[in-house]
This record gives sequence, structure tokens and C-alpha cells, in this order.
Amino acid sequence: LGGSISRALQQMSNATIIDEKVLNECLNEITRALLQADVQFKLVRDMTTNIKKIVNLDDLAAGHNKRRIIQQAVFNELCKILDPGKPSFTPKKGKPSVVMFVGLQGSGKTTTCTKYAYYHQKKGWKPALVCADTFRAGAFDQLKQNATKAKIPFYGSYTESDPVRIAAEGVETFKKENCDLIIVDTSGRHKQEAALFEEMRQVSEATEPDLVIFVMDSSIGQAAFDQAQAFKQSVAVGAVIVTKMDGHAKGGGALSAVAATKSPVIFIGTGEHMDEFEVFDVKPFVSRLLGMGDWSGFMDKIHEVVPMDQQPELLQKLSEGHFTLRIMYEQFQNILKMGPIGQVFSMLPGFSAELMPKGREKESQAKIKRYMTMMDSMTNEELDSSNPKLMTESRIMRIARGSGRQVHEVMEMMEEYKRLAKIWSKMKGLKIPKKGEMSAL
Ligand code: GDP
Ligand code: MG
Repeated sequence: LGGSISRALQQMSNATIIDEKVLNECLNEITRALLQADVQFKLVRDMTTNIKKIVNLDDLAAGHNKRRIIQQAVFNELCKILDPGKPSFTPKKGKPSVVMFVGLQGSGKTTTCTKYAYYHQKKGWKPALVCADTFRAGAFDQLKQNATKAKIPFYGSYTESDPVRIAAEGVETFKKENCDLIIVDTSGRHKQEAALFEEMRQVSEATEPDLVIFVMDSSIGQAAFDQAQAFKQSVAVGAVIVTKMDGHAKGGGALSAVAATKSPVIFIGTGEHMDEFEVFDVKPFVSRLLGMGDWSGFMDKIHEVVPMDQQPELLQKLSEGHFTLRIMYEQFQNILKMGPIGQVFSMLPGFSAELMPKGREKESQAKIKRYMTMMDSMTNEELDSSNPKLMTESRIMRIARGSGRQVHEVMEMMEEYKRLAKIWSKMKGLKIPKKGEMSAL
């Protein structure tokens, strides 16, 4: 996607005269790319109409960077679509709030309920989970397991078949226990059907939620708009959470959900685990949707920091998405030789320069050297694998012994590796621009 947009914009710059035809070609290409990312057709059409208005103005007079104007316009329009204009209800710590989760079966409600509870619990809240899904067998067990793991109180029943009744009882119970965040998980059924929406309406009526969150699987594609709208018509959806953003989906459906519910996206799910949950931030999301990142700055830095002869190989590895310990080792060598490549990575969405925090360069260097000593005790098989599961306990103990370090230090290094691998994998499939190609953007 990023490739085709940059290609489209590239075409623009090559044309000496900006005429209607070139602009249309460019917008057609962008339209196709956004549709591929599951942005709703109508939204794309409205956006291109707006952009035509913008770029047809005098802005494109000689002297202005035309590509920058168009790119900025696309970016801004997408950001605008994601901002419904008013923030969602935000629960207050210490004051009881009821939050109800809705969404189709499999969208990730139960997982997300726990993530949401856990996120707040870590910040000192007293959350609780209520299982009002009596439709799916095993629903209560799943919630119970999640809740137990996170040490969050839960309420549900194996025998009661009325979801409205359980929801009301659960909320009541936890209000008495002074919980400040009572989360109601609901059933989803298999498809949109009248009985589901009627059930949601009744559960909502019985629990009087302060906030209803619509949970959406990022891979549902063009169905997002209708699905979100259908829920909005039966309950007062006030916020959206998009799940499975760790997969291949670009998440263009999120724009549809916001448009259909007039509610903001508040979090995204980025994995199956409890802590794979991030506060939603519009700009990095749009960057990802467009496949941009801060590519220009990123590429400039790569060209500056990574030795010339290693650049093509590194870029190739980046686009493949495989991140091995050996690649990490080589990058550490670069860091020690050439200065903070941490800066390079900090330009990518989702990455904060944790590896090399400002003002703590000395410490970080020592840490990197320690990691490299441990990697020196690894076998080729270990260095070239991109599967962290290979690192069994006995291997970790052997590496610790061989390098004279502690087991927990080897484990810490593996955590760092996993963290970097995750960021690395986000770049998979992106077209890697050649030097100079992107810096004009
Ligand atoms: P529900 O039917 O809406 O309650 O959905 P569940 O919470 O049971 O989730 C359905 C499946 O999606 C489960 O296998 C979850 O582990 C998985 N899942 C949920 N959220 C995420 C996510 O953010 N990333 C990934 N990779 N999987 C997720
Ligand atoms: Mg569920």
C-alpha cells in the first residue's frame, strides 16, 4: 500500500504540468490502495472529492511541493475521518462506572474485556468482570480463566440462562463491593440477527452502562460499517476498540466504525496476551494505514548510520520481516561503531527509543556489550532462528554459563529480542524505497 501511494505521488512529481488527468490518475491509485486496506468506498470517495477541492485551489502554483501538498491532504483527511469531534465518556478512578462490551462473536470481546480491566488495574483501579454471555458454551469458563490470571474479580453462572439477569446481578454485586470499573462482557452469536440486538438492548437497559464499547476485528473488511451501525442502532455505542491489529489487516475498517458510530477508537488490540493492548493514537494509525511510518527520516538515518555495503542487505531483511538474533547482533555492532541507531528506530510508529534512552547512552552501551557477549555463546542455529521458542531452559542456562552471565540476564536479552522482533515484523512487506526516492516526500 505504501508502495503504491508513494508510486502514485512519484508520478505526480515527474509530471511537469499538473493537469486534471495526472491528478485523477494519482487519486485513482490512492483510492485503490485505500480500498485494499478496507477503507469504506464512500469514505474514500468523499475524501478524494475533498482533496480535489484542496489541490485545485491555487496551492499548486509554481514553487510549492505538489507531492507534499497532496500527501498532507490525504493524511489530514484520514485523520479527520477518525476524529468524530467529541471524546468518549472516560470513567473516573474511584467513581463506579459500568462499561458494556458489544460485538460479534469472535471479534475479541472477552479477550479485550480482560485487557481493558487489566490496563486499569495496573493504574490502581478496582475493576471487575461480569460474564453476560450465556449463548456460547464455555464463555464463562473463558472469562473466569482470564480474570483469575489477572486476579480480577468476576461474576457469572453455569446454570442461569438469562443474560439480562446475570448482567444486572453482577453489576449490583460489584457496586456493593465498591468496584470502580464494572465491565460487562456480552454474547455475540454468529451473525447479525434481531435476537442479538434485542438481547443487547435489554442488557443495556438492565445495567445502565456509562459507556458501551463496540469491539471490532480489524480484518472484517468492508463489513465494518454495517456491523458498527447495526450495534449503534440498538445500544448507545460510545467508543470503539479495534482488535487483531497484529495481523495483516491494515485496519481501514476502523474508519468505517468511527463514521458509523460517531464514536472514537480508544484502544487497539495487538495480540492475544493481556498486555498486548495500546491506547489508540490517530496519527501513527494513519501512517500505518498509508504504509508510511516516518519513512523519509527513517531512510535518511539508515543511509547515514548503517555502513554503505550493508544497506541493501539490511533493507532486504527489513522487508522480509524476519528478525533473528544475528540481525540483532549486527545492529548492535552498528550502534557501537556508528552511534545511536536507536534514533533510527524511534522514528517508526509504535517504537519508543527504549533501547537507547536519551541521557543514558553509557548505560545502554554497556547493556548492548553484555548482550553481545551472551550472543557470542550462542550456536549458529540459535542466532539464525527467528523462533524464540527454540530457546529452551537448558539452552539459556548453557548460554549463561558460557558467557559468565546470569540466567535472568539471558532472559532479559531474549525479551529485548522479542520486543525488537515485533517492531521489525511491522515492516514486513513494505516496499523499501531507494535512496532519494522518499526523501522528497
Ligand atoms: P469474543 O467471541 O468476541 O468474546 O472473542 P474472544 O475474546 O473469544 O476472541 C476470539 C479470538 O481472537 C481468540 O482466539 C483471541 O485470542 C483472539 N484475539 C482477540 N484479540 C486479539 C488480538 O488483538 N490479536 C490477536 N492476534 N488475537 C486476538
Ligand atoms: Mg466472548
